[in-house]
Amino acid sequence: MNVQRGDVEKPFQISTISFDGDMTLWDFRKVMRHSLKQILTELQKQVPTPRASKLTVDEMIAIRDRLAEEVKGEVWSLLEIRRRAFERTLEHVGHPDKELAAHLNTIYRKHRYGDIELYPDVIPTFDALAPHFKLGLLSNGNTYPESCGLDGRFAFVVFSQDVQVEKPDPKIFQITAERAGCDLTEMLHVGDSLKSDVAGAKNVGMPTVWLNRDGLPNDSDIQPDYEVMSLTEILTILELE
Ligand SMILES: [Mg+2]
Repeated sequence: MNVQRGDVEKPFQISTISFDGDMTLWDFRKVMRHSLKQILTELQKQVPTPRASKLTVDEMIAIRDRLAEEVKGEVWSLLEIRRRAFERTLEHVGHPDKELAAHLNTIYRKHRYGDIELYPDVIPTFDALAPHFKLGLLSNGNTYPESCGLDGRFAFVVFSQDVQVEKPDPKIFQITAERAGCDLTEMLHVGDSLKSDVAGAKNVGMPTVWLNRDGLPNDSDIQPDYEVMSLTEILTILELE
C-alpha cells in the first residue's frame, strides 16, 4: 500500500474517473515489442539482405519514434504513422517497397490488437468502481476497449488521435469532462505518466492518481494527489474498502 494523502479535501465528491490506457490498463510496450518481433521475422524472410538480417526491434522503434516526432501535429493516425514507419524501415534496409510495408502493417495490427493483455488488477478494480463512479478512457494511444476485453466498461472514451490534441494539453481534459458531463474538479484522473497524466490533469484542477507500478522515484517537481502501485489501491482512496 502506498497511498499519499494530498490536497484533495473530499475524495467522496468525485463522481467520475478517467483512466489513461497504455501502461495503466495494459502493457503497451510488451505488446508493441512482441508485435514488432513478428514483423522482424516476416521482414527478414521477405528481404534476405545483410542489412535486413542485422535489423533489431530497438532500431524499428527508433525509426518509428523519429518519424512520429517529424510528423507531430500533422499526422494524427497512429496506424498511419506505423505504416509509414514500416516504409522507412524497408528503406533503411535498402529495400523500399510500399506494398510490403502495407503487408507488414496488417500483420502488426493483428498482433498489436489481438495479443494485448490487461494488467490483472484492471477488472477487479473496475468491477468495484462501476456501481459508484462513471468510468472513462483518456488515451494518447490507439488501443480500443473492444480489442482488449473492456467493451462496454466506459461511459466515455477520448483518443488524442481523434480530437487532435494530446495529453498534457489542457484542451483534451476539457473535452473529456464535456463528454463525461461533469466538472473537472469532480473527475479523478489515473495514469502512469507524471508529465502527460498527472501534470496535465492537475493543470486544469483535476485530482490525480499517479500509478507507479514499478515504485520508481519521483525525480520531478510534479506532485500527484495520490500515488499508488496498483489500481486496487484506488478503492481505498475512494473509501470503498
Ligand atoms: Mg500511459
